[in-house]
Amino acid sequence: MTKDSSAPALAIHGGCGVMAEHEMTEQEWDAARDALKQALRAGAVVLQRAGSALDAVQAAVLVMEDSPWFNAGFGAALNADAQHELDAAIMCGRTLAAGAVCGARQIRNPVLAARSLLDAGESVLLGGSGADRYALQQGLACVDGDYFTTPRRVEALEAMRRHQLAGTYKAAKEAEKHGTVGAVALDQHGHLAAATSTGGYTNKPVGRIGDSPLIGSGTYARDGACAVSGTGQGEYFIRHVLAHDIASRVTYAGESVQQAAAHKIMGVFKDLGVGAGVIAISADGEVAAPFNTIGMFRGWILPDGRACVGSHRDLYYFDL
Ligand code: ASP
Repeated sequence: MTKDSSAPALAIHGGCGVMAEHEMTEQEWDAARDALKQALRAGAVVLQRAGSALDAVQAAVLVMEDSPWFNAGFGAALNADAQHELDAAIMCGRTLAAGAVCGARQIRNPVLAARSLLDAGESVLLGGSGADRYALQQGLACVDGDYFTTPRRVEALEAMRRHQLAGTYKAAKEAEKHGTVGAVALDQHGHLAAATSTGGYTNKPVGRIGDSPLIGSGTYARDGACAVSGTGQGEYFIRHVLAHDIASRVTYAGESVQQAAAHKIMGVFKDLGVGAGVIAISADGEVAAPFNTIGMFRGWILPDGRACVGSHRDLYYFDL
């Protein structure tokens, strides 16, 4: 999965909280894969026009935030109060500029608020009502919380509450628990960027913040090293400062992104019993997308300019 060093690269994920293959119809899987294709195309168009990695990851995440198939924006998970609290971050590998929001309740596209903060260059992370107010002041689209709710998320909350009462929380399916969307890119100017957006996990405590908006945990990009976006139980990503740790392994230990990402996801996290996945792109366009759950919505541009998407083991190839 290594690309010509001048060629742009892009990878996306729609979370490692996917259902088992038999739990959705083939039409539903097709629809989810179509949404991934749209997200890849949105990012690829930016890169093909010599745009920045930053704009590309934003464009890809935006599409997934607007899709009901993924746990971010429209279709985000519900917390213990049956409300949505959204987290997102975006980071530029060239300048290390970053923007993030957490616990936002009204921002239709949290990645846009994160990007606005990055561009403003003052605060990196705004939380809760402050993030909502900032988005409103910036003229970003704001909505009532109900906008984000889909029947699938209501069912997932009910399932998690049943697990809680029955004491079977650990046995809950990954799809009932969580999910996230993210994108990483390398542009033709050699710059990296990463963005991540999530509703967190279903039935999470009110006020809980995950790894996605924390720079270095669920989202990180540094030119010369790699760009990383994670999905999985955020508390572990925070404790391991996972995205930054992968970049450090690449920089200081000379590992490839595939080695560094696999070490954490297929080694350390798997041994800990933590369901997780990441996407990462190196400074020379190598893509890594390991996951230790039954599946992870994912996709990337291939060295020949075509692209692929997948949810479980199989990958589906298509022309951009
Ligand atoms: N990492 C997200 C969080 O903990 C959830 C996920 O990706 O599944 O908020």
